Amino acid sequence: MSIRELPPQLINQIAAGEVVERPASVVKELLENSLDAGAGQIRVDVEQGGMRRIRVRDDGRGIPRDELALALRRHATSKIADLADLERVASLGFRGEALPSIASVSRLTLTSAVAGAHSGWTLRGDGGDRFEDPEPAPHPVGTTVDVRDLFYNVPARRKFLRTERTEYGHLEEVIRRIALSRPGLGLELVHNGRSGLRLPPATEAAARDQRVARICGEPFIQQSVFLEQEGAGLRLWGWMGLPTFSRSQPDLQYFGVNGRMVRDRLVTHAVRQAYRDVLQHGRHPAYVLFLELDPALVDVNAHPAKHEVRFRDARLVHDFLFRSLHRALAELRPGAVPAPAA
Ligand code: ADP
Ligand code: MG
Repeated sequence: MSIRELPPQLINQIAAGEVVERPASVVKELLENSLDAGAGQIRVDVEQGGMRRIRVRDDGRGIPRDELALALRRHATSKIADLADLERVASLGFRGEALPSIASVSRLTLTSAVAGAHSGWTLRGDGGDRFEDPEPAPHPVGTTVDVRDLFYNVPARRKFLRTERTEYGHLEEVIRRIALSRPGLGLELVHNGRSGLRLPPATEAAARDQRVARICGEPFIQQSVFLEQEGAGLRLWGWMGLPTFSRSQPDLQYFGVNGRMVRDRLVTHAVRQAYRDVLQHGRHPAYVLFLELDPALVDVNAHPAKHEVRFRDARLVHDFLFRSLHRALAELRPGAVPAPAA
């Protein structure tokens, strides 16, 4: 076979292989876009665990009519313009791949309205790079992305989808992670027309505690301490579980870097070291922690789905995490442990 350039839809489908594994990954990408658009309230409607339909509606800044087609085009983004931007990127997205990838493996419609426009506009993705003209559609300022029949045209992928229940479980976990990382965000999840989760924005400390309790359970919030530490340009905040709340599995460990939830080996290691002397062998700490630092000091372009990050100064980050948590644990004299509420 001679060398040929692949058609756009196939290129997008190949890219989709990296970022769109299942309904939960679609939800993650769409929510990240809503957050990047400055949304304060997001509603997620799903049917059949997201396999049949995922609709994400936000009140962000919207997309102007003339940019709708661009939003569905590969490598088109409003978030970076050059390498310098990439190296200090603070948005969750920047690759310009999510929407075209999702559109190439589903039936996607993008509807949006910006402030000051007479109307909203809607555009259907076709998976490639040719689009009809947008059509007027009523919509408040913000964006709705409607994704139906995920993998309808990729049987090989569809085969890997699990039961509705399993897919919904993954999707809920994505929502939980984002809800934890943005306490000020109002989030609503509706499954098959029934309310799954409804989280009002939480700005005050008590409301934030309550939100964490809703997501991680009442026992966690009762047996954890709130921590806030700063040093060397780094800031760590969040809830660290008391040694008495150790787990047999590492299933309650949330860590965010600059508002992005990550799974990072260096972080896990630093936390484990800090807890080493206070946890029995084989037990795992529970935590919901957030690290904030200059975006230029962390490289998020290490993985298409951005689950992993690379710290420019890994040592500094590791030591800061270890020392902050270790000190906080050392300060927990037996008497300082809050008694569980009656
Ligand atoms: P990326 O997020 O990497 O830029 P996407 O394919 O996810 O790439 O989105 C492409 C572009 O579409 C974004 O850069 C943004 O300008 C626009 N966009 C996508 N979703 C939204 C949204 N919910 N609100 C406003 N703009 C959006
Ligand atoms: Mg995106």
